[in-house]
Amino acid sequence: MVNLLDFNLPQLTQYFESIGEKPFRAKQIMRWMHHFGVNDFEQMTDIAKVLREKLTRDTTIALPHVELEQISNDGTRKWLIGTGVGNSVETVFIPEDDRGTLCVSSQVGCALECTFCSTGRQGFNRNLSVSEIIGQLWIANKSLRAADGYELLSANDRIISNVVMMGMGEPLANYDNVVTAMQIMLDDAAYGLSRRRVTLSTSGMVPSIDRLKEDCPVALAVSLHAPNDALRDEIVPINKKYPLKALMAACERYLVKAPRDFVTFEYVMLDGVNDTVEHAHQLLDVVQNVPCKFNLIPFNPFPNSGYDTSKASQIRVFRDILMQAGYIVTVRKTRGDDIDAACGQLAGKVLDKTKRAARHIAIIAEAE
Ligand code: SAH
Ligand code: SF4
Repeated sequence: MVNLLDFNLPQLTQYFESIGEKPFRAKQIMRWMHHFGVNDFEQMTDIAKVLREKLTRDTTIALPHVELEQISNDGTRKWLIGTGVGNSVETVFIPEDDRGTLCVSSQVGCALECTFCSTGRQGFNRNLSVSEIIGQLWIANKSLRAADGYELLSANDRIISNVVMMGMGEPLANYDNVVTAMQIMLDDAAYGLSRRRVTLSTSGMVPSIDRLKEDCPVALAVSLHAPNDALRDEIVPINKKYPLKALMAACERYLVKAPRDFVTFEYVMLDGVNDTVEHAHQLLDVVQNVPCKFNLIPFNPFPNSGYDTSKASQIRVFRDILMQAGYIVTVRKTRGDDIDAACGQLAGKVLDKTKRAARHIAIIAEAE
């Protein structure tokens, strides 16, 4: 059955045309589904009864199943979203004084094997569908509104003001579904977020960065994590395919169309691995042609990771070198770690198709 949550506005319009209905119905239904969070056709009061019955018969508004919702001491919320037998992904809401950010997953697991990432360690099962990606926003919105005592909100009362595609998975490896879901996030008939408030984080899939610039230029964050190819090859293996020079050139090209005039470089701080004074200077060299900001992320540990978090004093030294060179640098605060909602801790449940998780366990067992 057709799931109407899988469509952006042009696709929904086309669907209505194909079933002999007026195209403007698409916008109405879009508003009901996404703006008002209604998933029951009977509640769509300005839709004629005949059409409501037809839609009930031929289509569905099917959301993924929430397996668990947890609330952290600091107000961070995490949803475990079921994505089929034995699989699940996680979505995290981070409230701050001036905004509310939703961290959205794009894949069950991830195939890219960054060595410090627990999602990467779990292996890969499958891409999320459009409805499973946008469904995370739908579910979070609904639950946050209910917690706030609202059922229907006006567009100005957004609890979720920002979305970051920084949950489980590499969003550009699920390109079509992620772009369609982001188009729904941006659509005024749906969530109406501005391009500046939707950020896609990628480990650096160069050709897809170029496509994104044309198809849906949202704010871009790039997981850099290493200031030279030798180290990046090791900890962010996609670097072997798209090395730093190519990645930096792609960032420069992206900025021509981007909604912000900088790229955010994320840099996980791994004790003794990528956090020395020399690394900081190399980093300044690497990014010299790309207007950027830095977001240093203290490594969030997980079992058997093999890494330690850089010392706070070392993070300060590293930060100061970048700041003295004139860059804006933020050090990411760890949020929600009491419910394992911090960056890189999102695990969900992944039935690994790549058998990587098993391989890792074997390697660890051998080492012990
Ligand atoms: N696949 C995308 C987006 C998801 S990861 C990407 O790699 O950019 C979101 C961010 O968290 C990335 O910068 C990622 O490198 C970082 N991260 C992964 N594991 C981490 C960990 N254990 N501690 C801190 N940050 C981590
Ligand atoms: Fe995948 Fe991103 Fe984790 Fe790398 S850091 S394994 S790209 S989710």
